[in-house]
Amino acid sequence: MSKQKQIKTVKHTRDILPKDFTTDTSAHSHKFQYVENVAREAFRRYGFQEIRTPIFEYTELFARGVGEETDIVSKEMYTWRDLGENNTPGAGASLTLRPENTASVIRAYIQHQMWVQSDLAKLFYVGPQFRREHGRKGRFRQFYQIGVEVIGKSDHPAIEAEVIEMLAWILQELKIENTSLLVNSVGCPKCRPLFNERLKEELAPKLAEMCGDCNRRFETNILRVLDCKRDVEIVAQLPSIQDLLCQECQTHFSEFCSYLDARQLKYQVDPKLVRGLDYYTRTAFEIVTTNENLGSQNALLGGGRYDGLSETLGGPPTKGFGFALGLDRFVISLPETVPDPSTPTVFIAHLGKEAFDFALLLAKSLRQAGISCALDFEGRNLKNSMKLADRSKARYALIIGEEELAKAKFVLRDMVSREQFELTEAELLEKLKN
Ligand code: AMP
Repeated sequence: MSKQKQIKTVKHTRDILPKDFTTDTSAHSHKFQYVENVAREAFRRYGFQEIRTPIFEYTELFARGVGEETDIVSKEMYTWRDLGENNTPGAGASLTLRPENTASVIRAYIQHQMWVQSDLAKLFYVGPQFRREHGRKGRFRQFYQIGVEVIGKSDHPAIEAEVIEMLAWILQELKIENTSLLVNSVGCPKCRPLFNERLKEELAPKLAEMCGDCNRRFETNILRVLDCKRDVEIVAQLPSIQDLLCQECQTHFSEFCSYLDARQLKYQVDPKLVRGLDYYTRTAFEIVTTNENLGSQNALLGGGRYDGLSETLGGPPTKGFGFALGLDRFVISLPETVPDPSTPTVFIAHLGKEAFDFALLLAKSLRQAGISCALDFEGRNLKNSMKLADRSKARYALIIGEEELAKAKFVLRDMVSREQFELTEAELLEKLKN
């Protein structure tokens, strides 16, 4: 170690590492990969295409899209002034690291006029999001989300049920258990203002007893009072939005529920479920878990309908529905062991200079045939080479010494069953390919 001061990750950010380099199983990169691969397979089956938007945008996008008064925009964004060069357009503009991806996807939908090509754009994204967190357990300043958006002409509730069906498949495939689906309707611009009025009437006399956040939300975003974890008794007495939905919202919600029923997807209607972003209309949902590793941060994912967001961002009237899942929280919820694609199929133990040279070329042939293999570059004895093979968790060890070279037959040891086979190079390739 040198005398220079070490530089570490910024507080509440972290490295996601290969499992060999950390005992923190929630930071194992192969687990992130595994969840991503399962999600990508789901997206292939359900016809979603990938979109990658920049990780920073004009601040105004989030201010207008997510809502000035939301916690995310008012407290949690990383925002700076772009220095730019003298007289470059946009110099001095306010820029922000994306705290979520939906606003960016809608921005892209409008910018690229996607409605011209397709009545319904089905998009997915995978990537980091940034929020100024202050050490609440399970919340990071850079965290990873996978999300989908269904954007276009249709607001059919069957779209919503299909997306949730896909999520149920992802959870089942990942063997994430002990989850519940919570659903609600947050109304539309026609009925929500009436509900907000009712809330105002009910809450005004009780404000003095309520927490600072509730007092602030009373003024800026009263629906969010329903989300308060402190004034639960007062909140429990409030009217239910379910009782005050307009006819269209009621019909939409009951059709949505019947599409879930038809798929035998279990759910609970939670009239207190209001999401933290302003753009939601009608259907809102969350999948929560009782996995104790997540503590109070029990939401694995959340989403809903956001008809009208496109108009807010200067686009045409458009319907939209989507979700974002927290990859970090999915990883914590996985069973202990998941497949690690970086585990080699075969580890080559070579003894002597000639065997080493041969092993290097054999490794090339194996890799070109699609077989993953590892070998080490030090000349070790058989015992130490086998120790390395063990540590690599390779399924097979291949032993090449002078004798094997002379016979042009190699010893393949199955590291699980301990069986050994003597094989020619062609036989070896054949066996490992299967
Ligand atoms: P939201 O965009 O707030 O609806 O969040 C969607 C999902 O992203 C949540 O259900 C969490 O799983 C995850 N998430 C949100 N914020 C964080 C954070 N700061 N750290 C880790 N995961 C997060």
